[in-house]
Amino acid sequence: VFNFSAGPAVLPVEVLEKCRDDILNYDGCGMSVMEMSHRSAPFEGILARAEADLRALLAVPAGYKILFLQGGASLQFSMIPMCFHAARRTADYVVTGAWSEKAVEEATIVGPVNIAFDDKENGYRCIPDFNTLALSTSAAYVHLTSNETIQGVEFPEDPATDAPLIVDMSSNILSRPIDVSRYGLIYAGAQKNMGPAGLVVVIIREDLLERVPAKIAPMLDYRLQAKNGSLYNTPPAWSIYVTGLVYRHLLELGGLEAARQLREKRSSILYSAIDGSGGFYRGHADKLSRSCMNVTFTLPTAEATKQFLSGAEKEGFSGLPGHRSVGGCRASIYNAFPVEGCEALASYMSHFAAANG
Ligand SMILES: *Cc1c(COP(=O)(O)O)cnc(C)c1O
Repeated sequence: VFNFSAGPAVLPVEVLEKCRDDILNYDGCGMSVMEMSHRSAPFEGILARAEADLRALLAVPAGYKILFLQGGASLQFSMIPMCFHAARRTADYVVTGAWSEKAVEEATIVGPVNIAFDDKENGYRCIPDFNTLALSTSAAYVHLTSNETIQGVEFPEDPATDAPLIVDMSSNILSRPIDVSRYGLIYAGAQKNMGPAGLVVVIIREDLLERVPAKIAPMLDYRLQAKNGSLYNTPPAWSIYVTGLVYRHLLELGGLEAARQLREKRSSILYSAIDGSGGFYRGHADKLSRSCMNVTFTLPTAEATKQFLSGAEKEGFSGLPGHRSVGGCRASIYNAFPVEGCEALASYMSHFAAANG
């Protein structure tokens, strides 16, 4: 089966095999990672290794803390404004799809929000030119979603802003090299491109920790989480362990430059199938805003879509129906997705179009 699920999503087979081998007896400890104390030496080793490998992969500069937290990317939607918005007049939000829309909803509960860009009327098909954003002069931060998982639009490069830039990278983190020094805070749920669900990774510039208000619920306090090295309470130990294995696997494959080449290869196979279909398949996103991680497209009629999807399921292509808000199809092709799966889908697409076009 080729797993095109948007998340939780495909993991590297080598990592799953390592988990299987370790499941009863991790590194000769006589117990599973699921059973061991999070304060034990073996788990401290797992946590330290995961952090060091992520630092190496993303070339995280000094002056940034890495946190392994819970609550998914969604809890960050509230934690960010609660920690950084409080005393400031406004926060700028760039709204390119469903996930940034959710981030705005939660920030609005905390304080005023300035919408610096909103593509909703257009069906969320494009990424703005960064020079044309309606940014405010004294925003607490600028928030954006580097890849919109549902609509399939992605920022082509790292933007630069004066106010601290906070980015939801849940669905494209570790798919290409980035310049971490441009960001105040990066967050990503693990289950799209890094590991199992239950874990959200936060990379935060240390000076932002000073801005967290003195009175805040402890679990929502980045400063406290950083002070405790992600061990304020019991962390999602198993998810951290598996995610750490994914980091090591990526390093062994050649790091993020290798990941970038693969993501371009995978996505170009599918976009060529769309563009070469004479209009039978239509990409949802504008060409310049297309995501390399989530390829969204439609067919001429609802009936054709239904037939396409049921045929795809029989071919062993799982997870292709588009999100209910967009319809059509969505092929999520994260780091661990095999290139052969894209070739197989492209071939199915061309046969289907020839038979039904
Ligand atoms: C999946 C996703 C989320 C939500 O993640 P949870 O871990 O389920 O809270 C947020 N943002 C983006 C971009 C996503 O793809």
